[in-house]
Amino acid sequence: MTDVLIVGAGPTGLALAVDLARRGVDAVVVERAEGLFPGSRGKGLQPRTMEVFEDLGVLDAIRAAGGPYPVGMIWQDGKRAGEHRMFDPAEAGEDSPFGAEPWMVPQWRTQEILFERLTELGGGGRVLFGREVVGLDQDAEGVTVAFAAGAPVRARYVVAADGGRSTVRRALGIGMTGETVDPNPILVADVRIRGLDRDNWHVFPPQGEGSGFMAICPLAGTEDFQLVAQFPEGEHLDVSLEGIRKVAAARSHLAPEDVTEVRWASDFRPRAALADSFRAGRVFLAGDAAHVHSPAGGQGLNTSVQDSYNLGWKLGVVLRGDAPESLLATYEEERRVIAARMLGISTGVHRGEIRRGEATRQLGLGYRDSSLTTETRPSPGPVRAGDRAPDGTVDGVRLFDAFRGPHWTLLTVGTATPVPLLPVPTVRLASYEVYGTGVFLVRPDGYVGWAGATAEGLREYAEGVGALG
Ligand SMILES: Cc1cc2nc3c(=O)[nH]c(=O)nc-3n(C[C@H](O)[C@H](O)[C@H](O)COP(=O)(O)OP(=O)(O)OC[C@H]3O[C@@H](n4cnc5c(N)ncnc54)[C@H](O)[C@@H]3O)c2cc1C
Repeated sequence: MTDVLIVGAGPTGLALAVDLARRGVDAVVVERAEGLFPGSRGKGLQPRTMEVFEDLGVLDAIRAAGGPYPVGMIWQDGKRAGEHRMFDPAEAGEDSPFGAEPWMVPQWRTQEILFERLTELGGGGRVLFGREVVGLDQDAEGVTVAFAAGAPVRARYVVAADGGRSTVRRALGIGMTGETVDPNPILVADVRIRGLDRDNWHVFPPQGEGSGFMAICPLAGTEDFQLVAQFPEGEHLDVSLEGIRKVAAARSHLAPEDVTEVRWASDFRPRAALADSFRAGRVFLAGDAAHVHSPAGGQGLNTSVQDSYNLGWKLGVVLRGDAPESLLATYEEERRVIAARMLGISTGVHRGEIRRGEATRQLGLGYRDSSLTTETRPSPGPVRAGDRAPDGTVDGVRLFDAFRGPHWTLLTVGTATPVPLLPVPTVRLASYEVYGTGVFLVRPDGYVGWAGATAEGLREYAEGVGALG
């Protein structure tokens, strides 16, 4: 009997495994493949995900592995026709240290880094490769998971992080409601190319009827490029070296032999779909198993990692017996609305209706309407209960340093009102205009759970959510 069985060692499963490992939860990841996923596909890490990664202890490795997005370069008839800026300009501020543009790291590298972190935390042996889940059965005490080969495993909770075609979701009979964002199939490949500089994201617009665009992006931290090419509906996509050489030569000034190697290739049709439910009893859906996006706008992996970040601490406190099981219901309550919103944004970016910028950074997301959120001030300031708790350094204290770790944090700003002695770190700031004035109890996933002008009602709230440990 294990406490949590995570199905799938993609970014969702690995991020959850890291979060649970640092909480000392007994968790096992089972992965169908014999190793980690080798492709670059989800390469854009949004500022909010960078904050989550700082908390999970992988920020330095992620920074060292990646780089900023290069400026787009539009090509016409073999000539540079002008630059294209992908993102609305923004400055990183004191309250959001990664607040400008996404950071590029190929997905395979992000997964390696999360896996290395898990190993460091003592959970490395807890990813079992070559274990394909084929079905599951649950009762009041736990879930029995069956594999294509080998003995079944019993777990108190199961998290389906097994991607868009989720076997677990199907086994549970949970439907997926959505639409095809674009009927035109897309080829995506990690290639080595001669004759293109690495200072630009090279964009080759469609050349007339029946053609599609091609974009070739240098992948930060590697010698590879990610080649993405769109095809007319119904066309068969050839993902072999020969097939990719043909596409590159037909749509650009490159010669076929300039594509020297294909390291990974795949094809897909952009879809947007949301699982009808994120939970069935003791089984939770997270990441692409719960929502699939168009890759435009770079929301899929980011939203997925944040599902894990929301679920991890809740499983931790419930398994420790510090909070009632009903806390787990707030995972679906909080994350399903966010996923629906992010799907709308991805589809809007894909269709050119929404720009990449404010909407895609994920810094403004929060849980104001959640049943876990309590705002007791009649006139709250700029940061309200449910909002992301911003960063900042005041009187030598950096807030993200205080928040870092699996615990809650009690923060007072601009008030000398007495607060109860709680077994959580307490930070008292004389003033910090980003927050306004108040008493704030910050959740382990960095959102304000409770806010008040005084601490009245704070202890009761903290007890109910397992903050007192
Ligand atoms: C071209 C492209 C570009 C993208 N760009 C971005 C981007 O810039 N930013 C962004 O945020 N997102 C992007 N995405 C989306 C991103 O890749 C996904 O959202 C992300 O991979 C989801 O992670 P996951 O862990 O939920 O699922 P997956 O990565 O699909 O992982 C699921 C894992 O489960 C395993 N598995 C499946 N079935 C079973 C089973 N029965 N038993 C055991 N294991 C199983 C699989 O082998 C796999 O390892 C892009 C996607 C594409 C296709």
